Amino acid sequence: MYTLIKKDEPFISIHHLSKYYHSGKGRQVKAVNNLSFDIYPGETVGLVGESGCGKSTAGKTILRLHEPTRGEVFYKGRNIFDLSRKSLVGLRKEMQIIFQDPYSSLNPRMTVEDLIGEPLDIHKTHKGKQRKDRIIQLLELVGLNHDHLNRYPHEFSGGQRQRIGIARALALNPKFIVCDEPISALDVSIQAQIVNLLKELQEKLGLTYLFIAHDLSMVKYISDRILVMYLGHMVELASSEALCNDPLHPYSQALLSAVPVPEPHSKREKIELNGEIPSPIDPPSGCVFRTRCKHAASICTEKQPEWKEVKKGHFTACHLYK
Ligand code: SF4
Repeated sequence: MYTLIKKDEPFISIHHLSKYYHSGKGRQVKAVNNLSFDIYPGETVGLVGESGCGKSTAGKTILRLHEPTRGEVFYKGRNIFDLSRKSLVGLRKEMQIIFQDPYSSLNPRMTVEDLIGEPLDIHKTHKGKQRKDRIIQLLELVGLNHDHLNRYPHEFSGGQRQRIGIARALALNPKFIVCDEPISALDVSIQAQIVNLLKELQEKLGLTYLFIAHDLSMVKYISDRILVMYLGHMVELASSEALCNDPLHPYSQALLSAVPVPEPHSKREKIELNGEIPSPIDPPSGCVFRTRCKHAASICTEKQPEWKEVKKGHFTACHLYK
């Protein structure tokens, strides 16, 4: 597998995962192509790329909220795509998702008590006083309190609504959470608070995260490793430090150059990417990034670059690295 060498066994192993959609006239949208990586216990893997690169589809397919076109996801030694619907219900308790837009993911007609209590009701885990105590416990865990129980989502700020979404995701004591752009809809000042809350919860509850985002600025603070995707393909995977200090793939270099630097005299220049991201219905031949890459050569049109370990634990797919 394409991972850092660690003494722990992987918590989740993703093998050659692809997800295509039919788009009519026999054509397919190749949203996710051949994703293979491991996530270790207690780790946060950041999944980064522009909008439309397939990262949210990948996250949802890993949870089997979408069925894959091909590939396997192993959790506790079992391929989750082989599980029956009944076994999958048990798995849902352990694998949860936090959505991007807390307003549209929370039913506006439900109180906070019912929103957080809903997973407990569906899985019949808590009733009566136990249920209420659990909901208050979850509210406190995310920095809210019992005064919020009878309020509705519109009565909260964006950051508070995301805290409610997080409490809901935590209700069943999950082990693994896909955080699907959980800060993208929030003001910058609130983003750091939510990232810090997720970090605290990870430590307290021993959680493992796949943290999806479209830019690197916050991802680098929360992630142990970062995986960069472009047009449904993996293009680079490394520790957060290695990827942010020494990005290898031209696409990662461009993403990183867009992150604001706190030092006023920094010489880092923004790398502009030419053109739009191509259509996943008709991706470029060879390297999918070649239409926007200033280093593109003839081999990049002819041959898809192989996934290679260029430095220890640092992988990329680019013909610049032999
Ligand atoms: Fe650029 Fe070629 Fe590397 Fe693709 S393989 S990123 S086109 S240099």
